[in-house]
Amino acid sequence: MRTYVRVGIALLSPFRIGGWLTHDDAANRARTVRDPANEDRPFVPSTGLAGSLRAHAGAKAEELFGPPQDGELTASPWWVLGTRLSDDVTIVQRGQTPINQGRRVAASRGFRTSDEVLPGGTGKPDLYLYLSSDRPPTTLLDVLATWRPSVGGGITSGLGDAEVVQVHFKTFETSSATGLLDLVRNNEAGPARIDALLANADTLTLKQEPPSLVLQATFLVDDLLVADRDDPMWRQAAWFHGSAWKGLLRSRVTYIARCLDLPCCPVPGEDDGTTESWTGCGKCPVCAVFGSADSGQGCWSFSCSEQVHDPNAVQTRHRTAIDRFTGGYRAGALFEEQTLPSHELTLTVHWARKPDEHDPDISWVPRALVRALGDLDDGIIGLGGRTGSGLGRIRVDDLELGLRAENDSSAAPTGIIAGLAAGPADTAMIKTLPVKEPADV
Ligand SMILES: [Zn+2]
Repeated sequence: MRTYVRVGIALLSPFRIGGWLTHDDAANRARTVRDPANEDRPFVPSTGLAGSLRAHAGAKAEELFGPPQDGELTASPWWVLGTRLSDDVTIVQRGQTPINQGRRVAASRGFRTSDEVLPGGTGKPDLYLYLSSDRPPTTLLDVLATWRPSVGGGITSGLGDAEVVQVHFKTFETSSATGLLDLVRNNEAGPARIDALLANADTLTLKQEPPSLVLQATFLVDDLLVADRDDPMWRQAAWFHGSAWKGLLRSRVTYIARCLDLPCCPVPGEDDGTTESWTGCGKCPVCAVFGSADSGQGCWSFSCSEQVHDPNAVQTRHRTAIDRFTGGYRAGALFEEQTLPSHELTLTVHWARKPDEHDPDISWVPRALVRALGDLDDGIIGLGGRTGSGLGRIRVDDLELGLRAENDSSAAPTGIIAGLAAGPADTAMIKTLPVKEPADV
């Protein structure tokens, strides 16, 4: 008996695999893994997906993929044959600037570019995973029906979000002449061979549940500063990045915590040289939720928001720098500013992992996050560049609250904020909700 399974995966956000390769300017450039046969094409090693599938299989992991590596080595009942990426996905380069946490401005060093692989946006799967075994597929199909894969790193900044959109499977009886003939009468090679074998294969009915929600907010954004509208990269990848949401909201939540004397990272020292490489203290509730180099992955994941990217909608305004000495216009200092008119952006925050016993109490952080949204709504903070001159104003239009991570499906659901039900919430609440619970005051 020989079973083949093909899993079609749709990318919901850009992804990047691997990090710093040996390269001339390796310090400033992160490259995603490339196809060994074609340097211009991205590649997804099957090991990462196999690991994600194994983790999802839970108690069925040994039955499907054999005992863990530290035990006796035996062949895995299921073989991961490999992956194939659609021709429609493309690699783009994105620039990133770290923030100097001491001064709260862009750091003077450390600008770097990194590769990101963009989804094809064709409505067809972007990535295929091929598996094979000499067993029937029943157990594997059970696991695949609810699997939510992630591709590469950066999942808490919205990278590598993906979902299974189709599963095809077929079993050939090698003990019968027709089954054997079907298998060998195929003169294709590699993925094409399995694609040919899976023509007219059965499809699995998927039973996916979206990841557990922390909060979802829809904003109306005015005059968001955009990169050059003629830049093909911007036309192709108009994402407001999860890392930008995360950076902005982390900074505001930390500020709120300091004002209210709640436990959070200490202010990094100005002159001990740590401000530029600072990534959080690793011990406080803010680090538990947003992550840090010491404590690792945070509990929450911030989605990338798809932006309007119609070049015709971009408005151009000419501005002139002021000569601080004469108070007049400075000659030769006319510059162009490109902004997007009012449009909607949706931010989704969901649970990337549950808090464990090593994590501090994070119960006040959702309230502080909602309060930070209130500060955005009030115009105290803005989105994107040049907020100081009035760009990137935000109004919160719609808000939905999620559930606590430890929510038990058999008991009554517990909302992310004590005393408030999960589901659509009154947006006016973002300005009146106390951050400290009455018990803390
Ligand atoms: Zn911290």
